[in-house]
Amino acid sequence: MSDKIVVGGVSVDTRHWIGGRRVASPGTFPDHSPIDGAVLGGIARGGPAEAEAAVAAAKAAFPGWAATSRAERARILHAIADGVEKRLEELAVVETTDNGALLRSHRRGVMPRVAHNFRFFADWLLQLEHEDFETRGHTNHVSWDPAGPCVLITPWNAPLMLATWKVAPALAAGDTVVLKPAEWSPLTASLLADIAAEAGLPAGVLNVVQGYGAEIGDALTSHPDVRRISFTGSVPTAKRIAASAAAHLTPLSLELGGKSPLLVFADADLDLAVDLAVEQYDNAGQVCLAATRLLVEEPVAEEFTRRFVEKASALKQGDPRDEATDIGPNIHPRQLEKIDGFVQRALASGARAVLGGHRLDGQYYAPTLLTDVAQDSEIVQEEVFGPVLTLQTFSDEDEAVRLANDTRFGLAATLATGDPARAERVTGQLVAGTVWVNCFFVRDLQAPFGGSRQSGVGREGGTWSFDFYCDLKNTVTAPNGWNNHG
Ligand code: NAD
Repeated sequence: MSDKIVVGGVSVDTRHWIGGRRVASPGTFPDHSPIDGAVLGGIARGGPAEAEAAVAAAKAAFPGWAATSRAERARILHAIADGVEKRLEELAVVETTDNGALLRSHRRGVMPRVAHNFRFFADWLLQLEHEDFETRGHTNHVSWDPAGPCVLITPWNAPLMLATWKVAPALAAGDTVVLKPAEWSPLTASLLADIAAEAGLPAGVLNVVQGYGAEIGDALTSHPDVRRISFTGSVPTAKRIAASAAAHLTPLSLELGGKSPLLVFADADLDLAVDLAVEQYDNAGQVCLAATRLLVEEPVAEEFTRRFVEKASALKQGDPRDEATDIGPNIHPRQLEKIDGFVQRALASGARAVLGGHRLDGQYYAPTLLTDVAQDSEIVQEEVFGPVLTLQTFSDEDEAVRLANDTRFGLAATLATGDPARAERVTGQLVAGTVWVNCFFVRDLQAPFGGSRQSGVGREGGTWSFDFYCDLKNTVTAPNGWNNHG
């Protein structure tokens, strides 16, 4: 079997990238396109041996990269961003073919953002400092020391975007990286390895290994030479990784699932609220931040629902390569079954589908809105990760806040209200890493990003990313330099 496959006219190497060269595995796993279920190719199926080799390569490359000046690291990160921009169309086409998200979003939003991830952390590195301060005449100096090899494990819903949120700050911090992309969408990580090499990143600084999490994951996360693990994915996998990382108390950053609310108050601009709600079907509902629980104040609930159904019914579902498409397929037959299982169980226990509630041909699921759902029901409490929203009503602010906070998650919350005082009051009571008021999905890399409760551990973005990827050191120097007793 060839080591390269051609996807949308782009050649992609299916082997791992370890220590600056391509490495095959004895076995492969099939990678399917969610658009039509076609097998794109066999991907090198890594296990403990490949994990070991990749960590060894990252460990060997670490002293050199850690000693590289900030300016030089930043220069190489900008060169990677240049490479991403140069191959933007190729990356967009491969990502869409591999994970089924909209080509128009990849072209205009996601891939430019991937380049920005590198530029942002390169620039942040150059101005990263903490002002020296004094303690009884002694000077305190804070520094961010590179920590060592990092294992970065990422999901399939926004593969390159989520991988580079981690790769860029880790490299900027002076760490070396072993990236393990999700098995349902591994291709753009392989292209990133090519781009980084072309940009002059030294061999072994970025390694990419592919494989099933169950087969390669533990060898990576329990490895004694790994200094940081950053994971984006589901809660059950996070628990396994945390247990595995406990072997060496390896610090973890966990970006996990959510069941975020959209609170619509009667004083809101209802058209805006409907727009925000319909936006939750983006990426066929496979967005960790999606506000999947619509909480609407009673007096406007009927009118909101009418306008929502009208707007959502006009969404165009189909081939994600078509610029006119609003909703593409779901990632995998297994994911589709999971989504439908949630919906059918909800319907069987008394929920009503105001919209959708069923599968469509191929790997597509009808955008769905369920009402008559109990707060303690599975459909309200568990993350579906598909185009499925629930609608509940509330009678006052206290009830809105109580419903909003009543899950085990705390990733995000969105408010639609025309009253700034209410927005401030309610925001203060919500448990969420991000709150959007009359907007959605605005994310600046200088802001802290992460989840409360079981939506995550730690925050990424700006200096918070460097705090995680570095060993912070405080150096205290005596008033007259070296002689503390003079
Ligand atoms: P997942 O947990 O099934 O898999 C994520 C990654 O973990 C994959 O690369 C997988 O191979 C790997 N993995 C699986 N078992 C492993 C193990 N034992 N050890 C090490 N690695 C292992 O998640 P998914 O289905 O790919 O992604 C969807 C989930 O990700 C949803 O819950 C979603 O909310 C969440 N997510 C969160 C964010 C965020 O920023 N908070 C962003 C996107 C997605």
